[in-house]
Amino acid sequence: MSIITITSCPVCGGNDLKKTFDGVDHFSSGEVFPVCDCARCGFRFTNDFPSEDAIGRYYDSPDYISHSDSDKGLINRLYHHFRKKMLRKKVGLVAAHATQSPIRLLDIGCGTGYFLQAAKKRGWVVSGIEKDKKARERATLRSGLSVNDENFFWEIGSSSFNVVTLWHVLEHLEKLNETIHKITEITTPEGIILLALPNCHSHDAGFYKELWAAYDIPRHLWHFSPGTVDKLLAKHHLKIIKRIRMPLDAFYISLLSEKYRGSNRLTGYARAFGVGTMGFIRSLSDPERASSIIYIAKKNGR
Ligand SMILES: [Zn+2]
Repeated sequence: MSIITITSCPVCGGNDLKKTFDGVDHFSSGEVFPVCDCARCGFRFTNDFPSEDAIGRYYDSPDYISHSDSDKGLINRLYHHFRKKMLRKKVGLVAAHATQSPIRLLDIGCGTGYFLQAAKKRGWVVSGIEKDKKARERATLRSGLSVNDENFFWEIGSSSFNVVTLWHVLEHLEKLNETIHKITEITTPEGIILLALPNCHSHDAGFYKELWAAYDIPRHLWHFSPGTVDKLLAKHHLKIIKRIRMPLDAFYISLLSEKYRGSNRLTGYARAFGVGTMGFIRSLSDPERASSIIYIAKKNGR
């Protein structure tokens, strides 16, 4: 298995990188990976992680719900409930912020295609990219669209789309800067880019520390905060025009974090509810404490 070791910060290029804690893969392998911070810009990332061709087995579990659609257990049922709510929110955000008509949308990392299906129903011209073969087949079945693998992404011509979405996807992608650069190429000058990302400066991340489930090591390589997203996008001449907090994610993430902590069921549920509620309240006055954030970005000068 080849291992990728990051020696300079993908955001600022700095090379003063320090290990902050050992991250455990609670979800599948139990393996440990160092989580590092850049001393210059504060960017946090997983280090010494398996390369793209080897990381597949870390996703290979029936529990990986965004791929398998499993609905067993409270956590998965909650996930499905929130997903339905979130689908409406995501479609609404695209409709409210797209500046060009007709909408030509690319969903990168479309999983099993729920968002694609909802977007298609709105009459938009939609395409999806999905790396996982099984998920891609389900997405194709569900949406009736041909969903492509990641090789196709690199072949897309410039200004092909006016909306590009990555819903909890960028944190998984090894080629971080290359992907953003390519996205800026394939987006029209007036186009919008929507990124949903976990927030490692959230209230729930602060509470659970290294047990915070949204670290999801080693599947999540990059652990963003509002500050580091700003810096990364600015480097690619993108500016953030809106941040939308997603505080409800805190309930789901907290439940999962309690599971990793080994809490007994009742105590775990109660505390997760408490942490989620507190995060929700704090995020009302300080959106930067929300568990996840949707960023809407545009090219500079637009
Ligand atoms: Zn840095």
